[in-house]
Amino acid sequence: MRTPDDNRITRRGLLQRALGTFASAGVVSLFPSAEPAYLSSRSAEVRPKSASLRGKIALEEHFVIPETLAASYGAAGGPEFQRRLEDIGSARIAEMDRGGLDVCILSLVGDGIQAIPDVSEAIRIARRANDHLAEQIARNPGRFKGFAALPLQDPQAAAQELTRCIGELGFSGALVNGYSQIGTADRIVFYDLPQYRDFWATVQQLDVPFYLHPRSAPAHLPAYEGHAWLTGSVWGFASETAIHALRLMGSGLFDDYPKLKVILGHLGEGLPCGIWRIDNRVSRTLGAKPRARLPIGHYLRENFYITTSGNFHTPTLTEVMTEVGADRILYSVDYPFEDVAIASDWFDHAAISDADRTRIARSNAERLFRIQVGVNRRTSSLPLVNTAPGSAQRLV
Ligand code: ZN
Repeated sequence: MRTPDDNRITRRGLLQRALGTFASAGVVSLFPSAEPAYLSSRSAEVRPKSASLRGKIALEEHFVIPETLAASYGAAGGPEFQRRLEDIGSARIAEMDRGGLDVCILSLVGDGIQAIPDVSEAIRIARRANDHLAEQIARNPGRFKGFAALPLQDPQAAAQELTRCIGELGFSGALVNGYSQIGTADRIVFYDLPQYRDFWATVQQLDVPFYLHPRSAPAHLPAYEGHAWLTGSVWGFASETAIHALRLMGSGLFDDYPKLKVILGHLGEGLPCGIWRIDNRVSRTLGAKPRARLPIGHYLRENFYITTSGNFHTPTLTEVMTEVGADRILYSVDYPFEDVAIASDWFDHAAISDADRTRIARSNAERLFRIQVGVNRRTSSLPLVNTAPGSAQRLV
């Protein structure tokens, strides 16, 4: 539980953090510029609107296998959309080039393994998806990396599969599509429950990020009756994932495993914008309290990373930078549900400093995943380069 002294320190720390991040976000300038020499402040002025910055790393980019297509968000798409979802080859690489993406960390599209109630079937299909992804990555190892799909219907099997994917397949972490259904469609589980503690111990031991990707809110909930349009990416994704993340934080999971790294997409599913009120109300409520030892915001800032997937809105980005810092934000698109060029056109010209743009586009991911992009590829000329027609030179 928090003490009054904790509250005082936390508030002061928050103020210092906010001031520092405003400076980092380029909203105010308190300190001399920390921009690398190759990205001068003149670059935003000389960069044409049509330019695309190459060298980005993206980590919420999806694929499908035939076994999970029918229960995926790709099922509603036409043949062309499904082809894009299935392809992990030249067509996808052409799209990556169009959006300035050097490397994509690929993941099985939702609901994927989480929507397979038969536990043995979930284990089998997860293994099949991961083996397929590994085969495709081997064909283009300079452009693709992988997140493991996990059968979290069985925590022990999920831990074993993650260990295999990291140790044998060289994956970068796991991406899980929200809660899992076990036995029947109505029986759903969240991963803060006690039976998942050993699984999380494995995640911490392997020292890899866990991407908590959304899935639709259960359609039978009374709040959604008659409003099916609200259950998915319009609203239910963010609502469902934010609650799941809050359950993880409030359960004390990060007190037990303080080195866990969880990634949220869509600029944080609304949590950064609401975190002050969450902690304020936890400290003042007369009702139930979370089991966690520290303010919820502490875990959001220390154990979570946030991507730009499918949320290409600068005021929201700068708010998230203010709350968690630019060092914890990573670029993503959410391909093929979003357009790579729309994403890059927004991000490349967003009103943030070029130093933060470089962190979010690539260097945060290089640090988090301990990868260095472009080492084996001549075309990946780092730093970020201007690829506007006729202007393919470094931004100096
Ligand atoms: Zn997604």
